Amino acid sequence: MSDLLFQSAQQHIPGGVNSPVRAFKSVGGSPLFIDRTEGPYVFDSEGRRYVDYVGSWGPLILGHTHPQVVEAISKGAQRFLSVGAPTQLETQIAALICELMPQIERVRLVSSGTEATMTALRLARGYTGREKILKFEGCYHGHSDSLLVKAGSGLLTLGIPTSAGIPKALAELTLVSPYNDIAALEHIFATHGDDLAGVILEPIAGNMNCIPAEPDFLRQLQALCHQHGTVLIVDEVITGFRVAFQGAKAIYPELQADLTCLGKIIGGGLPVGAVGGRKDIMDYLAPQGPVYQAGTLSGNPVCLSAGYQTLSLLKAHPERYDQLAAHTKSLCDGLTKLSREAGVPFTTQHVGSLFGLFFTDQTRLRYLSDVNACQIDQFNVFFHTMLNHGVNLAPSAYECGFVSWAHTDETLAETFTAAKQAFAAVAAFTEANAANPKEALSPEEALIPA
Ligand code: PMP
Repeated sequence: MSDLLFQSAQQHIPGGVNSPVRAFKSVGGSPLFIDRTEGPYVFDSEGRRYVDYVGSWGPLILGHTHPQVVEAISKGAQRFLSVGAPTQLETQIAALICELMPQIERVRLVSSGTEATMTALRLARGYTGREKILKFEGCYHGHSDSLLVKAGSGLLTLGIPTSAGIPKALAELTLVSPYNDIAALEHIFATHGDDLAGVILEPIAGNMNCIPAEPDFLRQLQALCHQHGTVLIVDEVITGFRVAFQGAKAIYPELQADLTCLGKIIGGGLPVGAVGGRKDIMDYLAPQGPVYQAGTLSGNPVCLSAGYQTLSLLKAHPERYDQLAAHTKSLCDGLTKLSREAGVPFTTQHVGSLFGLFFTDQTRLRYLSDVNACQIDQFNVFFHTMLNHGVNLAPSAYECGFVSWAHTDETLAETFTAAKQAFAAVAAFTEANAANPKEALSPEEALIPA
């Protein structure tokens, strides 16, 4: 059924999807077409139920279709769908964000994480009068031109585009450095520090699986930004209100962002992003200042109704963050135990309710190169066997997973039942390929049917 739906989608939509990672390209096969969702579950077009650890890639910390969020959306929609004029809701959510994240003194609401990071870069450039920016390998900040850039080869620090259609001249203004590498960071600042408008990073990288920044790396980054008058942009689109109530700043109390990008959870599943931070920088935004930024649907009241309700529920139940973290730890510990029983080298990393699964014998992963060294084929066998047994993980070894309020001991037990099969499939796949490398099985051939 998914195959047919996917073929049909491809007749009208490039690649059949509206965001590339949904297409299952890195794991193979056709994506699930989701028909409906509820709590910890998604249901496919044939009515099959899956425990879901994607959670719409992070926004759904309360679980799917949380009744109070759905009610807030429906009430909001009855008042206004969109107005294009100020509403009190915008002030309320902005005030709540500033209250919950005290480093944010002013906040501009946008409609996606991409818009938030794009605006942050323009602000950093407008504020400093400089053009270069620095990002880190393995971090993703949305698809604006300046940020779809990777490191050039060898000693080159100038970025090269990771997508067609990005002017080389623009990409060269983006420097790229390895994540968590203090020596490389110092080298870049020594060479380019006074030309750097801003540095952007994920404080816990969720786009190369789950790789937390080392505290010393963050400390040095902050000191160098301070020393060179470079704007420090912390991209909390994934981590904000996810890894802890205050986001990554709760994990790294010394971290002082000049600008913070938010998205995902602040929209409660509807499209909302935000950039916020120091008043003197934020006041550079139009209409107050010279940096232009605008949006017909920015601060859309229906989206803000969902976001405000989500943040309010999180605020009312801070204890749920400990439960989320404990639950995520149980998930990771349980999977690790099953991997050991199956003899599969495997490691997990998690912060709050954000987790990463790694098919590797390394016990701690710090760099993109560590993630690149993982066994992607093993992940793919694991992924498909889990799916066949009713557990939906992100369809790439480079993506992290998310636990929500709606996940329970029951969903954990369902996950472990599936994982026992999935690790057995990985072990059989690895053994078969080691015994006969010339006729190695593809991950698809190795699958154990449900
Ligand atoms: N920043 C980070 C850290 C992200 O993970 C993402 C998307 N996953 C973005 C920015 C871009 O957000 P959006 O997809 O809403 O444009």
